[in-house]
Amino acid sequence: MTTDQGQLTTDTLPAWLDVSALLALARAATAAEVEAALGAAHVGPREFAALLSPAAAPYLENMARAAQALTRRHFGRTITLYAPLYLSNFCSSGCAYCGFAADRNHPRRKLSFDEADTELAALKRMGIEEVLLLTGERTPQADFAYVCECVRRAATHMAMVTVETFPMTTAEYAELAAAGCTGVTLYQETYDAAVYAPLHRWGPKRDFAARLGAPARALAGGIRQCGFGALLGLADPIEDALRLYSHIAGLQKQFWRAGFSVSFPRLRPEAGGFQTDHPVSDALLAQLIFAFRLALPENHLALSTREPAKLRDGFAGVGISKMSVASLTTVGGYDHGAEGGVGQFAVNDSRGVADFCAALRAAGLEPVFKNWDAAYR
Ligand code: SF4
Repeated sequence: MTTDQGQLTTDTLPAWLDVSALLALARAATAAEVEAALGAAHVGPREFAALLSPAAAPYLENMARAAQALTRRHFGRTITLYAPLYLSNFCSSGCAYCGFAADRNHPRRKLSFDEADTELAALKRMGIEEVLLLTGERTPQADFAYVCECVRRAATHMAMVTVETFPMTTAEYAELAAAGCTGVTLYQETYDAAVYAPLHRWGPKRDFAARLGAPARALAGGIRQCGFGALLGLADPIEDALRLYSHIAGLQKQFWRAGFSVSFPRLRPEAGGFQTDHPVSDALLAQLIFAFRLALPENHLALSTREPAKLRDGFAGVGISKMSVASLTTVGGYDHGAEGGVGQFAVNDSRGVADFCAALRAAGLEPVFKNWDAAYR
């Protein structure tokens, strides 16, 4: 069982991780069950499972139309934009699929506070108002105090400051929120504990349970938005989607005032040359996005620059409501004075802000950098 503060141990993993009944449905749903799910006023777990089934694949066009209609109803024609800023590539963990893993032989660096300010100012000049600050796992070089100070500085530049760093305690998340952090993104990578173990070869990230409980701790600590995702390609994507949905559905009941978002990161080439056993095709990616949109109509669904321009343009407004732009996965690099070095993974859509916004507008969509102003709070 889980406690309401997300304090999990490996011996007490939550019951919702058992999705065997839904998985059976997702493997064997009939066309009639898919049609019923598409026509349902409310898509719950059973309908969601049917929409993930092989029987739903021929209904992709119908799912796309329904996903677009729901996206438009809840988000209008807007696409919310953000940019990542890698603060540090020091890492104490050994994730087999990551270019920043501790055994990857490349120079390590972190941004000094002055460099972070310079990078944030460069992002601001690009028009960015929401920044996602990233580090590896907790290290002496990039520890909680470092992240907290970077958040504090980022909050003086940006309207929204989210972090994608390492699992923290509830007290640390509360301190982060007080420093100006509005959101935490923390992908479980895979919700399959048996697959998770060998992929996370050493370091604190080996602790599956500690990671699983982090979003609950963040929300209990006063963080307003939580971002979720599974790294597509690590494990069975349908199983991961069902568990991801269950994770969010449970937290939504407990933290009903919070915002939730789902990202769909597919594995990209990285310096270590990791090969996936579970490739996710474009069609399956589309099915996942549309199914999540139907099941979570009010939540942001995000797609990053891991995906190529053509695919991103196609999903914008069709399920997807939030996108990164002009991303670098090196440590810094937005300001010409900063030396980025090796990236965490290869970016696939390298368009700048102006080009990407022009593409959105050409498709009848409105790029949004900030949807509120302090004067109206
Ligand atoms: S995924 Fe994160 S924790 Fe794992 S090696 Fe990369 S930076 Fe470190």
